[in-house]
Amino acid sequence: EEVVNRIAAGEVVQRPANALKEMLENAIDAGASQIRISAEDGGLKMLRICDNGCGIGEEDLPLLCERFATSKLRKYEDLREIGTFGFRGEALASISHVARLTVVSRRAVDGYARRATYKDGKMVTCSPCAGEPGTTLTVEDLFYNTKTRRRAFLRGSQTEQYGLLLKVASAYAVHYPAVGFVCGKRGATEDLNTMKTSSTEETLRALKKTKKNLVQIGPTTERDDDDLDEDRFECELGGYVGGAEDGWFLLFVNDRLVDNAAIKRAVDEFFPRKTCYLRIEVPKRHVDVNVHPTKKEVQLLHESRVLALLRRELHKLQEERPM
Ligand code: ADP
Ligand code: MG
Repeated sequence: EEVVNRIAAGEVVQRPANALKEMLENAIDAGASQIRISAEDGGLKMLRICDNGCGIGEEDLPLLCERFATSKLRKYEDLREIGTFGFRGEALASISHVARLTVVSRRAVDGYARRATYKDGKMVTCSPCAGEPGTTLTVEDLFYNTKTRRRAFLRGSQTEQYGLLLKVASAYAVHYPAVGFVCGKRGATEDLNTMKTSSTEETLRALKKTKKNLVQIGPTTERDDDDLDEDRFECELGGYVGGAEDGWFLLFVNDRLVDNAAIKRAVDEFFPRKTCYLRIEVPKRHVDVNVHPTKKEVQLLHESRVLALLRRELHKLQEERPM
């Protein structure tokens, strides 16, 4: 049975960057305003995320890595929305099946922190320790027990894995300008530091080292009037495009970093090879991420309407300032 768990977990956590994305979302959900990431060997040897969020109470530690253990379901007024997130309560469970996981956490009300270690979904040790309020998760020896997957990764370079980590961290830094992100290899100088930037535009400019030609997309909203139809079209869209010719395309749908080939293609038609950050908000029930659990690709119920709205905005920009 453990082998089955391990394989399933490997589907959720395919590479260090997947684990990082899940842990960043947890830190943001926990209300963190500062998130520090450090990695060794591209995150395979060690990946650490330290946040100053709400922390985890002692009573929640034993069940933390249990499958479907989540403190977030009560937030979902509509049960159908659970489905749209695919794997609620599966991220930490999955990580604990394919790596050594250590959690140090303290809530503001606690006098001290606790350190807990996990293996295969279960808490193994738990003891008091010193620590600031917040949570530090350390993932070590990722895929130590899944030889084939690890071997596959060792073929790809660790520099490549680290590059993906940095990309994910940078994307979240752009989308959450009020949160300060730091990312670096263990013991080396930081490759990302957004502690001092406070807007998406400023963060993008700093990251892409570009001062000009970055223009704002929207923001714009469109919604159908028919209040009785719960599937009526409703969409808010905004972002930036321009700057460096490196084709960095980042898309957030309802605050999650995702892929959508048609949306990316639409941007490419108007602004080929440019940097583009796009955020789209639609009712949660209009998003389907369950195309396949391992895929970041999302489907939108009203994709053609979203594309039309996006094209209209991009067209306006192209008329105003051709790049
Ligand atoms: P989910 O995010 O879907 O609830 P996860 O497996 O990602 O599932 O996390 C399980 C639970 O662990 C969360 O619901 C949350 O209560 C707790 N948790 C995880 N990371 C943090 C963190 N950085 N700070 C506070 N709580 C956390
Ligand atoms: Mg999570």
